[in-house]
Amino acid sequence: ERMMEIRRKNCNPMIMKVTSYKKPVFIHQGHMQWLWDVDGKRYLDLFAGVATVSVGHCHPKVTAAAEQQLKRLWHTTNIYVYPPLHEYCEKLASYLPDPLKVVYLTNSGSEANDLAMLMARLYTGNFDIITFRGSYHGGSPQTMGLTSNAAYKYPIANGLGCTNTMCPDVFRGPWGGSHCRDSPVQTIRECSCAQGYCMANDQYIGQLKETFATSVPSRIAAFFGEPIQGVGGAVQYPKNYLKEAYKLVRERGGVCIADEVQTGFGRTGSHFWGFQGHDVIPDMVTMAKGIGNGFPMGAVVTTPEIAASFAKGVHFNTFGGNPVACAVASSVLDTIKEDGAQQNSLNVGTYLMTELAKLRDKYEIIGDVRGKGLQIGVEMVKDKASREPLPPEAMSEIFEDIKDMGVLIGKGGVYGQTFRIQPPMCITKDDVDFFLSVLNKVVHSYMD
Ligand code: PMP
Repeated sequence: ERMMEIRRKNCNPMIMKVTSYKKPVFIHQGHMQWLWDVDGKRYLDLFAGVATVSVGHCHPKVTAAAEQQLKRLWHTTNIYVYPPLHEYCEKLASYLPDPLKVVYLTNSGSEANDLAMLMARLYTGNFDIITFRGSYHGGSPQTMGLTSNAAYKYPIANGLGCTNTMCPDVFRGPWGGSHCRDSPVQTIRECSCAQGYCMANDQYIGQLKETFATSVPSRIAAFFGEPIQGVGGAVQYPKNYLKEAYKLVRERGGVCIADEVQTGFGRTGSHFWGFQGHDVIPDMVTMAKGIGNGFPMGAVVTTPEIAASFAKGVHFNTFGGNPVACAVASSVLDTIKEDGAQQNSLNVGTYLMTELAKLRDKYEIIGDVRGKGLQIGVEMVKDKASREPLPPEAMSEIFEDIKDMGVLIGKGGVYGQTFRIQPPMCITKDDVDFFLSVLNKVVHSYMD
């Protein structure tokens, strides 16, 4: 009660808005895939602080690396040379293909995308930027313009619709029924694909080409795309879709930016970076969240050529590349390797998706199960025939019941109709079995 009182009086009221649970959970402690509340109740964490705790809460190795650095040096800014920054930049660059070798460190995903936007505009001399419907690229005033999801927009220029960026009606995901009806504030073109979900790949690509031909300016600065949409609800693109988008963007003089804030660092299992699953090489990669296992950090990695054009001006970021953040992030990279986190993401994620698909076949309200590795979406519908999103009250009821039974998951999708499962990559098959039994019970009793 006292904490709720403080929250009401002294905390950013937005926190109240996004408090997802009617009865809030007061988290006190975490270890690997587990969280404990102030009363000592244990939860299996399948959302990882929004896909952020990559290797596990308070992972002992990462914690030790942070402790060591905290005792040595907290901060100097990057006007001085200090080893953790340089060691980390070299290590991170080694995870990216040529020519992506120049690293800029930031403190969040929004900051990384802001920076990428600026660099793209300077490099190309163009202004317009393309993103996909359903995308989320940040909450800063600039990146809000890139974010398509209307729920995160404000009624001001750049926060409303696409005033200085373009959000063409490109791809709505496999469940056309629930993805087609985006809020009018973010639509440039009206939806034209009532059967979107069942179109063949080449039809999607045809639609993409047509959108570019009719709605996209002839010169653009950049295209931002998440390899799999996160906040949008684990939305995947048809085969070769992203590849074709890259081609169309480059034809218009734009650079291609992969927003790996959620999909990076092994989460998709089969690859370290989400873009690798699309047979493309971006001109810039932006990242955050999983990079620091919960420590505030972000990065842009780009080519020497783009970096050279940016170097004509002066850009400074006080905390970007902070020594503690670098020590943590370096240890995260080592830990992903040593713990086999990416492989675990693939194994456990594939197992979870296979089992979830069985529940989808069993229950009328589980409309779709999709994703890759441990980036999974479970889209809930009123029924499979209508594909109407399950209403928010029903979503909340199920969400709350799952929490009460000891499992924390996330919510996303344009209508908040998709449960998101993006746990720390250390979860086990036993954890998955526990979650499946909880989900089965909750959905079963909801249907009764
Ligand atoms: N890009 C993507 C794909 C994201 O999911 C998010 C955060 N949800 C961001 C960018 C913004 O990151 P941050 O909240 O760290 O600014």
